[in-house]
Amino acid sequence: MTDCIFCKIARKKIPAEVITESEDLVVFKDNQPNAPIHYLIVPKKHYESFSDVSDDILIKMKEMMLTLAKEKELKAFRIVANWGDYQAVKHLHIHFTSGFKKEDY
Ligand code: AMP
Ligand code: ZN
Repeated sequence: MTDCIFCKIARKKIPAEVITESEDLVVFKDNQPNAPIHYLIVPKKHYESFSDVSDDILIKMKEMMLTLAKEKELKAFRIVANWGDYQAVKHLHIHFTSGFKKEDY
């Protein structure tokens, strides 16, 4: 999708603070974070939402969450994914957040 901002980030056409990437996924910092750690886990291929993504990509997204938790030595994380009218960017992504005060780390 030529007009999609997350496609452009995945193809390095516009900058983002990339945390890590794999063959299928890119993880970068949300530029309007609402937690001390706020990453977006994004398939490199354009899927609009959960309605059209394949299960193998979802499994890879789950594995990425666990890899991030391990590599960043997190004791907790929270994920959010918006769908329908709640979803502003129509390229599937999962919000991965951590470092909330009540966790105390
Ligand atoms: P939503 O589609 O409602 O799940 O939210 C989209 C998220 O993408 C928001 O939290 C934005 O802050 C974030 N976002 C939009 N554009 C960029 C960008 N260029 N770089 C990083 N994060 C972005
Ligand atoms: Zn896209």
